[in-house]
Amino acid sequence: MTLPTRPRVPAHLTEAAGRVRASAPALAAAQIEYLSDIIRMRTYTGEEGPAVERTLQEMRSGGFDDVRTASAGDALGTVGTGRYHLLYDAHLDHNEIADEDEWPYPPLEPTVDDGKLYGLGASDCKAGVASILYGARLAAELDLTADCTVTVQGATLEEDAEGFAMRHLLEADGFPTPDAVLLAEATDLTLRRGHRGRCEVRVKVRGKAAHASTPELGDNAISKMRPILDALDAMTPDLPTDGTLGRGTQVVTMLTGPHTPNSVPSWCEATIDRRLTPGETPESILAEIGAAVGPLGGTAELPIQPVTSWTGLDLSGPAFFPGWLLDGDDPLVDAGRLTCAALWDQEPPVDVWQFSTNGTYSAGAAGIPTIGYGPMEEEYVHTPLDQVDLVKLLKAAMFYALFPTAYTHIRSG
Ligand SMILES: [Zn+2]
Repeated sequence: MTLPTRPRVPAHLTEAAGRVRASAPALAAAQIEYLSDIIRMRTYTGEEGPAVERTLQEMRSGGFDDVRTASAGDALGTVGTGRYHLLYDAHLDHNEIADEDEWPYPPLEPTVDDGKLYGLGASDCKAGVASILYGARLAAELDLTADCTVTVQGATLEEDAEGFAMRHLLEADGFPTPDAVLLAEATDLTLRRGHRGRCEVRVKVRGKAAHASTPELGDNAISKMRPILDALDAMTPDLPTDGTLGRGTQVVTMLTGPHTPNSVPSWCEATIDRRLTPGETPESILAEIGAAVGPLGGTAELPIQPVTSWTGLDLSGPAFFPGWLLDGDDPLVDAGRLTCAALWDQEPPVDVWQFSTNGTYSAGAAGIPTIGYGPMEEEYVHTPLDQVDLVKLLKAAMFYALFPTAYTHIRSG
């Protein structure tokens, strides 16, 4: 964690922050109503259509320009016309419910209790969408877009394939490369500047089938997998480590083979979840794993992550999501700290995420400066206590309303 120092807040930013704080409360009820509406919609990855439509409607009634749907189904709307392009991103799909009986409130019935709004996807990441949408709207209403053009992206496909929808937007739809990307994932109103990457690797070993009554005629692939698992575990101490992001990890998460209980298995496949430090590539990972398992008869490959957008596009691609880390002194981090200092006279801690986000594309693949800021708390993500604090929800909108002014000041200073 980087220890904050106090940025100097210029007078015009202090004045703008005062207007943001004074005006935001009038939007709180509408923000909560919009968030409640999208929580009522079950939007698993690839099924975001209704929440996208509802988001487009909210953008139109909120005075956004150029409200449209990306070809991969993301909701897009713009405020401001300045020379710096900011992309505010948060996703509308959510994780699947494991056991509905564990939820204190029905997942699809948003419930306010003691200042918190409970509901499926509140913390990952629908409250983030409500934060950026209302922040951009407030910036436009207060004429605070400064030298920025801000596009709000209610994104799709993040849970299964983070970064795939943004990649399609920039590389296929021709959306201009933004100067900066801001991700409204869970940060509890602090700043994030990176996370480890992840990838999936499958290691397969072949044997020879035989009837289970005469195993001596076969070559058992499960037995051949045993030393391979040991070899994979033995790699752990040598995995790359990053001073800030921490250690790369590797764990076997699934074993599969033929579903024939009365045969000697002819193949066995191990699925590996690997967490990456910046700079690791599919080639470097397959080479390392191949060197460990090859002499034991194993072969390694990177599988294809299947994903289809609600608009019907096949965006399947390699299950590789690079890590990234923005410099702690980057102007984008400074702009985030300055925004908080102007609004609340205190600087947020700057840290890294444990989980992976759309930053895997924006920063990890495309090299676009990226930071994270959101009202949600990491401990409630993907849990039955899925929730957002309503005071924090409004504060995040204030952050996104003031950010273009702070960013313009930093860039032109
Ligand atoms: Zn998320």
